[in-house]
Amino acid sequence: MPIYEYECGRCGAVASQIVMGSDRAGAPACPQCGARGTRRVMSTFAVMETEASRLQRFDPSQARGESFYKDARNVGLAAKKRAQQMGVDLGPQFEATVEKARSGKLIKDMS
Ligand SMILES: [Zn+2]
Repeated sequence: MPIYEYECGRCGAVASQIVMGSDRAGAPACPQCGARGTRRVMSTFAVMETEASRLQRFDPSQARGESFYKDARNVGLAAKKRAQQMGVDLGPQFEATVEKARSGKLIKDMS
């Protein structure tokens, strides 16, 4: 059952909605102001939260086995942690590169 997020065009409130059946049923009214002009937005919250907690647990000084690097979600984690500690904002470009690396597209792009 997918969960979609809707952003209100009037007040900007974002509401999560579990969508049953067809997602063409129409956007729900804004729970805050009641406006009908809500639009669906990409729900990235769950993914981002997971990565944040992974980053929290990640210890760069600890030795990591082969299985660590086999997990694509760990790609770029060391670089991110380092940047976070230095207070550097890597920006969306880095995010895109990491995403590519994780999906294996980076290797294809370079060859
Ligand atoms: Zn609203």
